[in-house]
Amino acid sequence: VASDLDMPPYDKAMMDGYAIRSADLISGRAVLAVIEEVTAGKIPVHAVAPGQATRIMTGAPVPPGADAVVMVERTRALGEERVEIEDASVRPGLNILPRGREMRRGETVLATGSVLRPQELGLLAAVGRAAVKVHPAPGVVVLATGDELVEVNQKPGPGKIRNSNGPMLLGQVSRAGGRPLDLGIARDQPDSLHALIGKGLQSPVLVLSGGVSAGKLDLVPGVLRDLGVEAHFHKVEMKPGKPVFFGTRGGPESCLVFGLPGNPVSSLVCFELFVRPALRILAGHADPGPKVVRAALSKDFAYQTDRPTFHPAWLEAGEHGWRVRPVPWFGSPDLRGLIHANAFLLFPPGNHRHQAGQVCPVLQVE
Ligand code: AMP
Ligand code: MG
Repeated sequence: VASDLDMPPYDKAMMDGYAIRSADLISGRAVLAVIEEVTAGKIPVHAVAPGQATRIMTGAPVPPGADAVVMVERTRALGEERVEIEDASVRPGLNILPRGREMRRGETVLATGSVLRPQELGLLAAVGRAAVKVHPAPGVVVLATGDELVEVNQKPGPGKIRNSNGPMLLGQVSRAGGRPLDLGIARDQPDSLHALIGKGLQSPVLVLSGGVSAGKLDLVPGVLRDLGVEAHFHKVEMKPGKPVFFGTRGGPESCLVFGLPGNPVSSLVCFELFVRPALRILAGHADPGPKVVRAALSKDFAYQTDRPTFHPAWLEAGEHGWRVRPVPWFGSPDLRGLIHANAFLLFPPGNHRHQAGQVCPVLQVE
């Protein structure tokens, strides 16, 4: 995007005060004749000649002849027609933003690939671009699977639990810049799974929760295969989240399919590691993540695990860089433990006594 104008479009006053000629001051003092007043949106009619000043407001064009603006606090009006200046700091250019200082007409102000944060939106507005081409937010269907699941507004009967992954994943989709669409709950039956997964495959991205591990009713990978989804990986050496599945269906209506394990924390971690970066690539970001920082442990921590493990943690900026503290947590079903977490510490497999101050990789999730 190139600018269609110089910004500022004229030499601009940056203070309320008086536009003057700096050479008129002797030891920072002068009494000058006030020849007009220019408020923002108006243009000066007169040039400032020696011995003269123009009363001027922030944002207004500086009249020809003047080379400085003295702030009103350093002046004293002597009636309507004269002003006394007392400002030893005055030098040419004081409180004036010269024309074109911010940008020149024709200059590129936003490059392809820029992320439209609020400041970019403001800049686009400043150069008159009411519409620009963008990568659309990818549509992401979320489908929970499980015979044990009931809707959020229901009281679970014996053996049942509420579908907490649905709302959680929809929230993660929004936060990752996707456009979430809720497909509800599919039952652990081939008919139900076929119907709802078939529907979900019409979206560019399908995120499934549950049904991808090794249990008797983990039917999702088989149904995906039947529906023409090619598996790229199934099972990853990590904890939580080992059963995670990723596949694609090609063709004109192509779809990325993520099968996340049903345990809530597995779903959440796998989303951050695999789904979020994919959504960011689809949305045109150059840095898809996941975002891993290195942080110093704020306390000793003994930990035993057989796989690389993402442990919920609190990450904060300390005086000497990032600091991280593991939070109490008892495993992949424990979503409540995540209320006090904003990150995951990555621990290697083994039986370790991590010392306070040791620097560890940490996955940031906000
Ligand atoms: P699965 O991956 O289907 O074997 O499920 C693993 C565990 O996660 C089981 O205890 C499920 O009850 C639980 N679970 C599966 N789906 C959900 C969901 N949508 N919300 C909350 N918990 C779930
Ligand atoms: Mg299940």
